[in-house]
Amino acid sequence: MSNEETVDIVIVGAGVIGVATAYYLQKNNPSKKILLVDRYLAAGQANTAMSAAAVRNMFASSTNQLLTDTSIKYFEHVQNEIGYDLMFEKIGYLWLLSEEQFGHESVKLWMKRMKESNISCKVYDKKQLKKLIPNLNVDFTGDEEAELMNLQEVSYGLFGADCGVLDPTRLVEYYLEEFIKISKVKPRYGVDVQALIVEADPPLELPGEPFVWQKKHVIGVRTNKGNIRAETVVLATGAWANELLDPIGIDSLTKAKKRQIFVLHAADKAELLEVLNTKGFSEMDSIPFTILPSAGVYFRPQHQEKGFWIGCGDKFGREYKYIQTDEDLVPESAYYEDSIYPVLSKYFPAFTDARPVNSWAGGYSYAPDRIPFVYKESGVLVVGGASGSGIMKADALARIADALYRGEPEAELFGGKTMLSTALGLKNRKVEVESVII
Ligand SMILES: Cc1cc2nc3c(=O)[nH]c(=O)nc-3n(C[C@H](O)[C@H](O)[C@H](O)COP(=O)(O)OP(=O)(O)OC[C@H]3O[C@@H](n4cnc5c(N)ncnc54)[C@H](O)[C@@H]3O)c2cc1C
Repeated sequence: MSNEETVDIVIVGAGVIGVATAYYLQKNNPSKKILLVDRYLAAGQANTAMSAAAVRNMFASSTNQLLTDTSIKYFEHVQNEIGYDLMFEKIGYLWLLSEEQFGHESVKLWMKRMKESNISCKVYDKKQLKKLIPNLNVDFTGDEEAELMNLQEVSYGLFGADCGVLDPTRLVEYYLEEFIKISKVKPRYGVDVQALIVEADPPLELPGEPFVWQKKHVIGVRTNKGNIRAETVVLATGAWANELLDPIGIDSLTKAKKRQIFVLHAADKAELLEVLNTKGFSEMDSIPFTILPSAGVYFRPQHQEKGFWIGCGDKFGREYKYIQTDEDLVPESAYYEDSIYPVLSKYFPAFTDARPVNSWAGGYSYAPDRIPFVYKESGVLVVGGASGSGIMKADALARIADALYRGEPEAELFGGKTMLSTALGLKNRKVEVESVII
């Protein structure tokens, strides 16, 4: 490489994880020249913007509990102490469960681990739920359709009071503004990274190198705007991680899956407004972010636009797919009509006849154990595999990436808690498998 630009660190990807990582890296390595690039024309435009942006500390693995609990506390600190409005609303999280689900070993373990970690969780029984949410259907007796659809009746609700929703764009703006205040180089957009450049160490200037017998590492990136040489390349490319890692023989172990959101308005529907403004769960007079017992259907109440965002964490039967073209991210109206709507309207009849006024799709980046990755290999530091919960883990992941860069054995998370900086590595991973995913 000659005549190319040289920086200390180039960060590829300006989603929430990339901007948070940029901020902590620059804060703790003030002399380093750090360049943040993205192929979109602004930060946070990809999956971060597509997110339902719910934040919860209710996970079964202590790893995810720590990543989310400390991140959420930091977001609260940003909003309440620093005074930067992330539009964080503590409306809580409500998992509706059947008798069978509630009694399952995995749920028992989940509740036990949350108790050990002092994570707030209140259990509601069917009677209490019905009183709080009169529109909730908890009885499918004699309902042949519900039986055909394998819908489980609601018996319990697990409520996490410290959970809520925020505006992911505000969160991106916060980290980005903080980064720009201290950075030496401005972030650059419209920069499409086409490849990671692998060079022999030391280069012998022979045609065809690097050969298998040579030492080699990533020394920069090839982009549509020229090459950028960097001592460390940070990859925060989310669902596109494989695009750059596969060609150089690093198996990211992550897979992308399409996820969709459908927007429903409630303004002119009294029963839906009643559901939206459910009292008794939090000071917000709002139905919590709610997950139904069957099919992975969930909704986020959306008070500014008086409506709901509906999503679905489907599992077996829907493909994992590389996201390559815009068409891979087109929302499917039939997915709402035929898969989501029948389930939603059974549990909440107030949604009967409710049709989307807007919709979009993005991609999750799933790790096999549903725990994120942060690792450094051959000059590239990868932070990703957030498995559908990267907003709520962004602060902790960024701090771990920075600690790993600095060679610190432990990362200090918000509130003084720590995590081994190698715990989320590809090798010697020290994590528990996560079972509570949507
Ligand atoms: C429908 C949906 C609902 C979700 N709900 C939630 C939720 O409720 N709570 C939650 O915590 N998470 C949720 N998520 C997941 C969350 O959005 C992600 O985990 C998070 O945004 C990941 O952040 P990121 O920075 O890794 O990815 P992204 O925001 O996707 O950022 C990656 C960036 O890398 C850039 N990039 C990629 N490849 C290249 C390249 N070659 N050159 C240059 N730039 C490149 C992209 O343009 C992009 O800006 C949801 C996701 C979806 C799709």
